Amino acid sequence: LFVPQSDSPELHELLLQLTAKESPVRVQHQPEPGAIESDCFPTVDRKAQQEGGRRILGWQIWQTKLLIEAEFHAIWESPEGDLLDITPKPIALTHILFIPDSEANYEGRQIGNIRLNITGNALVDEFISIHDCLFRISNRGERADQYEISLKGREAEAYKVLSQAKVMVEEMATRGEGKKSSCICGSGKKYKLCHGKKVARIIREW
Ligand SMILES: [Zn+2]
Repeated sequence: LFVPQSDSPELHELLLQLTAKESPVRVQHQPEPGAIESDCFPTVDRKAQQEGGRRILGWQIWQTKLLIEAEFHAIWESPEGDLLDITPKPIALTHILFIPDSEANYEGRQIGNIRLNITGNALVDEFISIHDCLFRISNRGERADQYEISLKGREAEAYKVLSQAKVMVEEMATRGEGKKSSCICGSGKKYKLCHGKKVARIIREW
């Protein structure tokens, strides 16, 4: 996981898929002491209440070997007009790449990440579809307003299978393997005839 350069061709492709019209900016990362990791909206709102300034909504950009990704995010603009990313992250970094989105709205509902395959490997598209389906399941109905959810029955089963497949598919794609490679579960069958079948069925249903 890394922060891409603001002039990368992959970023240019991703920007075509976002509604944001503004240009990407590098924003200094300065985590607020005591704030919860990745909990950007409450952290920024609290800061603005205490010290002034305001919340800026937009997208933070991540890249991996397989894809480039836009994650809905909030940063803080200080009363002096400086932009700061104050939400703690799972990895150490000095800056994030951020695209302000003045059209965006945050009403407490979770907003899904936008991911773009940067390889020619169809297994990475599968990886992205799995992410999207997991998001659909965990945000059905009122759950979209909740950070923590509990699933039951067939829904929970679908979620579990997809979560496992996500890890498997990522590992296979990182090794450069495709949908016709042997499934990593060890069944001896090709992925598309093994776990790929289960994944396809779940994605159709959910
Ligand atoms: Zn399998």
